[in-house]
Order: sequence, then structure tokens, then C-alpha cells
Amino acid sequence: MFFRFFVKRGKLELRITYCSNSQKFLYDFQHIIRAFYPGAELMFGNGGDIHFEAHFDGFNVRIQAEMENKEIVVKNFILTDDDHESKRIFGRNLYDILKTLTGKELPWGILTGIRPTKIVYPLVESNLPDKEASEYLQREYYISKKKSHFLLEVAKNETNILNRVDSSAACLYIGIPICPTKCLYCSFSCHELTKRIESLLSLYTQALLTELEKTYKLIEENKNKIVAIYFGGGSPAVIGVQNIKRIFESLFANLDVKDIRETTFEAGRPDTINRELLELLALYKKDFNIRLCINPQTSNDQTLKIIGRNHTFDDIKKAFELAKEYGFENINSDVILGLPNEIEEDFKKTIYDVLNLGPASITVHTLSIKRASLLRFKWQNYRFMDEHTVNSLLDWARAILKERGYIPYYMYRQKNMIGNFENVGYSKKGFEGLYNVMIMQEKHNIYACGAKAVSKFIFENDRIERMFNPADIQIYISRILNIEKL
Ligand code: SF4
Repeated sequence: MFFRFFVKRGKLELRITYCSNSQKFLYDFQHIIRAFYPGAELMFGNGGDIHFEAHFDGFNVRIQAEMENKEIVVKNFILTDDDHESKRIFGRNLYDILKTLTGKELPWGILTGIRPTKIVYPLVESNLPDKEASEYLQREYYISKKKSHFLLEVAKNETNILNRVDSSAACLYIGIPICPTKCLYCSFSCHELTKRIESLLSLYTQALLTELEKTYKLIEENKNKIVAIYFGGGSPAVIGVQNIKRIFESLFANLDVKDIRETTFEAGRPDTINRELLELLALYKKDFNIRLCINPQTSNDQTLKIIGRNHTFDDIKKAFELAKEYGFENINSDVILGLPNEIEEDFKKTIYDVLNLGPASITVHTLSIKRASLLRFKWQNYRFMDEHTVNSLLDWARAILKERGYIPYYMYRQKNMIGNFENVGYSKKGFEGLYNVMIMQEKHNIYACGAKAVSKFIFENDRIERMFNPADIQIYISRILNIEKL
């Protein structure tokens, strides 16, 4: 059997084809190619400027790269009977070929997972000295020395945070996937607040409350205690203060607030933050330990327009002032590195502007061009920073945030990020987002309610089962309210 696909590389339209007599490691092949050719589109097809051929014969594998029918690089290697090890062997050999072809090296090497710290937990837990752990990461995954040290630092911080919760601890996610407008880079199944969606908000809240009622029973049956709650999905405040109040009343009546260490409310965009909302949240702030998110993404108004936000950075400042007036100290701010048309100075200015707002935590994202985003179809219209600049700005941000007392406490990666980099959460001591860390480590149940919400249940031997809710709001409402009638 032969599988063929090609990569379109921007305007150069470099085509890469791949043939194999096995489906093995197809995902790794695609991911590593994408990492070497960011923005590339992989699809099945025939013929290419560069052609790869992989032949599997038991444990023996041969990968050959050809250009214009001339053999240019060949790698022969042997897999083992350990699937994880074989995956790494395949990845390293493919990486070597791509490095020869492009002259490039990737800071994260062959690491394809979105939770890089997960591979480090066993090293941290076994108290392996840092030098040995770092060498292992460099040798096995081709992770750069600098990134391996950073990874170890973040994994240790994550582990310290998780050591403070016991095995019965669990999280509750409340998804409200609706936003006033859709951001250019958004890939979530997030609905825009149209008249039709507006007319469904009350029913949606009813469905959420119904699902919550059933979830409380499940939490009790599983002998879990909810330690972290997350209101997210979009901009939860769009459902209106009265509906949010109904949800808090339900949570208060059914959960033991003594256990709740943190409740994150993604206020997100300043166009959904007002006095009425903050007044309500302030009522529950103490019992629920509310952590607010107010996310500028950038302080450049021009960029805010490009990415489809209906606000300016001045609106963000006003939202911060208002939140502080209502006594909110635990505020997180998201920023994105590599936004369309931004240059180095824009990002540096954003970091300084955000630091001036004094958030308790800052999450630094690297732009990801997702398949489901509008940006996926429009990216040729904009200029983007090159990978070298993004990498040095990540280092710069880490240094400046450290200088201002923010420690890196969690990390994740997405597919199709500029230069295959990372997203990192930094916080002042004691303001780390517990929910963020718990979902990264996958050791605790996550009960998720709302459209597009995904619950995650952890069983013995780290087996994970996921339960998916319908993404469409109308379908979600009718499913939940129909179940109720049964
Ligand atoms: S705020 Fe977040 S969820 Fe809403 S449209 Fe923008 S990226 Fe999507």
C-alpha cells in the first residue's frame, strides 16, 4: 500500500511527496515536515520537488529522499519491539534527512506532543540530576540544550503545584463557546453573537444547568472534589449577568466551596466586561477564589483591528482599572507573539504595556495558524516574523518576565505554531493557574459541561477516556433538554 501527499510551501509551492509501504508513523512524518516547513499544507497527491520513500521490512527501515529523480539522502535504520522507542528512532532519522536538506535545526527537535512537560515528569519524579535529564532530552528527542533546561524548570514547577492537590481532586469546566466577534486566528468552534445565538442564550443556560445537575451526581459517585473551575470556551460573559448568576447559584448550592482553590473566569475581551458583571463576580470572589482573565493579545491597535477585535488597548486598560476597583488582584493576561504584520518592537511594547497593567500572571502564546481558522485562508495577505526572531523574542520575554518576578509554571504546544515553538504561562508566586496545570498533567478527572466541552476521565494505569459534547449550540441544547425529558 502506498500513501502519497504533498506540501505546498507558500508561494514557492515546493511539493513534497511521500510513499510508504506502511501506515506506521504517518502522523510523525507529517508533523516533522510541517515543523521544517511552517505554514505548509500537507495533502495527498502525486509527484514532488522532493520525494520521500520509506520502506518497512519488519524492524528494518529505509528512508530515501530524492530531488529531480536523483537520490540525495538515504537512511537505513532498525526499529525495536518498543513502540515508543521506534517512534523516536523513526523521528530522529527523518529529522536528520530534513536537517541535511534544509540546513535547519528545530529547538524542539522531534517532539510532536502538545504537552512537552509530560515526557519530563518521570525524569523529575525519579530525581534524575538535571544534567542527565537534559542530556537524555537532547539525545532522545533532539531538543536543544536551552529548551531542555527550560522544559525541566517548567516541569518541576508544574510538579510542585500538583503535589499540593490529592488524587480525589478534579476540575469542572463550564463551556460557553460564544464571542462578540470571531478572531482571525480562532480555531475553536466558537459561535459569533448573532441575533439567532442571542435568542438561544437563556435556553443554553438552562441546558448548562441541567447538565451541571447530572454532573454533580457523577462527581459525588466518583468521590471527587472540585478544586478548580474554569469558565471558558469563548467569552462566557456574553450570556448576560443574570444567566451567570444562575450558574454561580447552582455551583454554590451543590459544590463544597471549601475545596475550591480557584475559579477562572475568561472575561477575555474588554467588550464583555462591565460594572454589572464585576459586581456579580465580586459577590462570589472570596468563596470561589475568582481568577479573572483579561486578554489583550497585543497593545497595538492596528493589529487588534487586523485580528478582528472590536476594541483598543485603551479598553483593556479601562477593564483592568475597573476589575481592580472591584478588588480583583488575580488577573491573567494572554499575549500572542508573531501576530500578522507585527515586528519585534510591537511584541516588546506589548510585554512592557501589559507589565504596566500589573497582572498576576501572563501567558505568552506563539501564533498558531490552525486549519479551522480564517487566518488559514488569508495568511498570504500578511507579513510574519521569521522563526529566528520568534525564538529570540521568546528568550527575551522569559528574561524580562523573570526579572519582574514571574515564574514559568506551565507549558503547552500546538500544531502549526510559527517555528514550532511553545506557549508558556508565567505567574507571580502563589498566582499559578491550578486548572492549567491539572489539565496538562492528565492525572485528574475533568468534568466538562457545555457545547464542545470534552470531559476527561482517568482510570488505572493512566488510561484516559474522553467524552465529547456536541459543538453546535442548538444541537447541544436539544440533546441535553431531550435527555432531561426521558
Ligand atoms: S476570544 Fe478566543 S474563543 Fe473568542 S473568537 Fe477570539 S480566539 Fe476565539
